[in-house]
Amino acid sequence: MTTKAEKRHMDRVADLGCYMCQRLGHGPTPAQLHHLREGQGMGQRASNWLVVPLCEKHHANYSKDGWHGGRKAWKREQVTEMDALEWTIERLLA
Ligand SMILES: [Zn+2]
Ligand SMILES: [Zn+2]
Repeated sequence: MTTKAEKRHMDRVADLGCYMCQRLGHGPTPAQLHHLREGQGMGQRASNWLVVPLCEKHHANYSKDGWHGGRKAWKREQVTEMDALEWTIERLLA
C-alpha cells in the first residue's frame, strides 16, 4: 500500500531522470524507480522512500549495464545503489 506522500516522493525521484546516465554525462534519461533492498531479506520490498531513478538500461536484469543485470557500468564507475541514493537526496534538497 502506497501513501500519497510516498507517491509524491516517487514522482519527484522519477522526474530527476536516470542517475547513471547523468553520471556518464548523457543527460536526464527517462527513469523508472529502483527500490533499495539494502539489509532486507529476499523477496521483501524495501521502503518506497528508498528509491533511485534508473533508466531501463541501467536497471533491468537483462541489461549488461543494469543494476539487476551485469552491473558493468556500475563496476566501471565504482558506484553502488547507495551512491545513487546519495545523489538522489542531494538533488531533492537542492
Ligand atoms: Zn541510465
Ligand atoms: Zn531495481
